Amino acid sequence: MTSSPSLPHKTDLRNLTQEQLTSFVLGLGHPAFRARQIMAWLYRPGISEFAQMTDLAKSFRQVLEDNAVISRFEKVAMEKSTDGCVKFAFTLEDGHVVEAVLIPEPDRNTLCISSQVGCAMNCAFCLTATMGFRRNLTAAEIVNQICAARDYLLQQPRETLIGPDRVTNVVYMGMGEPLNNLENVIASLSIITEQKGLDLTFRRITVSTCGIVPRLRELGERSPVNLAISLHAVDDQTRSSLMPINDRYPIDTLLDACRNFPMPKRKRIMFEYVLLAGINDSDHDARELARKLRGIPCKINLIPYNRAPGLPFDGSPMERLLAFQKILLDAHYTVFIRSSRGADISAACGQLAVKQLSSAMAPSVADSAGAGEE
Ligand code: SAH
Repeated sequence: MTSSPSLPHKTDLRNLTQEQLTSFVLGLGHPAFRARQIMAWLYRPGISEFAQMTDLAKSFRQVLEDNAVISRFEKVAMEKSTDGCVKFAFTLEDGHVVEAVLIPEPDRNTLCISSQVGCAMNCAFCLTATMGFRRNLTAAEIVNQICAARDYLLQQPRETLIGPDRVTNVVYMGMGEPLNNLENVIASLSIITEQKGLDLTFRRITVSTCGIVPRLRELGERSPVNLAISLHAVDDQTRSSLMPINDRYPIDTLLDACRNFPMPKRKRIMFEYVLLAGINDSDHDARELARKLRGIPCKINLIPYNRAPGLPFDGSPMERLLAFQKILLDAHYTVFIRSSRGADISAACGQLAVKQLSSAMAPSVADSAGAGEE
């Protein structure tokens, strides 16, 4: 739920980029610099009311009160895994629930965020797919996931944290297909990298896609974000059986789009490859992967499959993963094996689908200081 009653005529300021906020303020008959002042307040921890924006004239604060709201998640459930990952479940205004996962490491905190409620892509191995597609998230709903994780970190005693006390990295790898919600995803990227906003750097933000080819170029042209491609197979028959999107945009078409992806020098595309026992994990697959990616500045991330209840797949054994990796390393690729974190609370890749978290969790953790209980 969001805190303020979002009457239809009121604008949620957390949906607005700096540019949009400027137009909004001009529309109210106030000078553009007010928008920069507001932006500097909007993403400060603990700020939820216009009354707190003390460098704005009282009369202007009243104008804002009459025309705008600042949304935030109030109904937040959390669950912590044995390895320190935290899964957040946010209840949206319309009752839908989306999840985000905080993955702490000594030098960074990565937050994996959702871009849609459910997903329409129907990948055979992914649990989110079993929910179907419900709706796109607004920019504010994307941004508020980061605000909630930020506030959670600030509330923890410093000595209990594994990593830094702020979110340093963001990956759009939770529920949903970001390129099917491109406008709101791009707006959210602009907001979270805004210096006066959440001040994250594009270098530490990655958008992951199953490969909606026509939108790839648009993403690259409009945002210098890092790109990850969920590839998962090297022949069209196998990829189509795992990922229906491959019928529309087959592997060679996708890889051509990657070759032409507008990217600053030294940046590399991340190819993600989930290893499924007996399906896409042979030595031949690895050699074919090496051949197909030739010439694309890239890194490869091999993902151990996280078993999803009811889905007929098994992960490849570790020795297979290592053999697959070795072939790619010998072909001079940078290859990581993603460590599977948060699996005990179904927070790992492809496990985000749960409608309601178990009652074992904290009942309702408000996302910022001073927020009331539901
Ligand atoms: N729709 C986007 C982003 C969400 S999925 C995309 O397809 O990239 C994030 C990553 O987790 C994708 O690479 C996805 O294929 C992978 N994934 C899905 N289910 C998984 C599972 N059960 N185990 C491991 N990885 C999985």
